[in-house]
Amino acid sequence: MPELPEVETTVRGLERVLLGQRIERVEARRPDLRRALPIDLGQRLTGARVTGLRRRAKYGLIDTDRDDTLVFHLGMSGHWRVDPSEILKHDHFIIDTDEGRRVALNDSRRFGSLDLIRTEELGEWPAFKALGPEPFDLDAKELQRRLAGRSAPIKLLLLDQRIVAGLGNIYVCEALYRAGIHPKRAAGSVSLDRLKRLIPAIHDVLSEAIAAGGSTLRDFASPAGELGYFSKSFSVYGREGKPCACGGAVNRIVQGGRSTFYCPKCQR
Ligand SMILES: [Zn+2]
Repeated sequence: MPELPEVETTVRGLERVLLGQRIERVEARRPDLRRALPIDLGQRLTGARVTGLRRRAKYGLIDTDRDDTLVFHLGMSGHWRVDPSEILKHDHFIIDTDEGRRVALNDSRRFGSLDLIRTEELGEWPAFKALGPEPFDLDAKELQRRLAGRSAPIKLLLLDQRIVAGLGNIYVCEALYRAGIHPKRAAGSVSLDRLKRLIPAIHDVLSEAIAAGGSTLRDFASPAGELGYFSKSFSVYGREGKPCACGGAVNRIVQGGRSTFYCPKCQR
């Protein structure tokens, strides 16, 4: 499932292909993904120039000179294919540029989405309106303020998009491990000193994943090139029963219906 680093990697890859290009043609090969595609997608995008690509939480944003922003979410299985040599069954949306570049959004499970929003209205768009700050914009004091008085486990609150946007299960598990914080600890009781260790841990796990994705992008110009997926080894995530560096064993519990991996010896 694509998380923040995969989306960031995807946006950076698409930027190399689309930035500054004029959209010559778009093709929606089905009317919907998770929800219906905007019916005026072709009309508003055809002829527009791409002026910027960015990410917000787990959404990718493609800005145009018509003050529209195409917002994509990769869902469970979505990924963009760059200059594909052939169109595949699950390539549901295609953009062709005036310089002959092509990108195709492939999404076999169709949990992804495409929306076209007026750029100036993005902040009020329902999916964005309640989002907390980006992890890279967050410091320990601000996080402490956001967690103050909360008795819910810190693991669950870090996954709450209203507190911090875009953090997913893998990276929360890894960051809590690196910061030595027990995932069940009441969020409001974590000291500022420990939050000062947690913030760089969050930044580091995300940056490392983005860098790893960046290295896979070297191949993306090939006809079969696909953006944004890579595998990385983790310290605790997916390692139930395996040894921690401390000699203890990684434990798994379920919180909020999702697996948490942690080391009971290293995390307090
Ligand atoms: Zn350990």
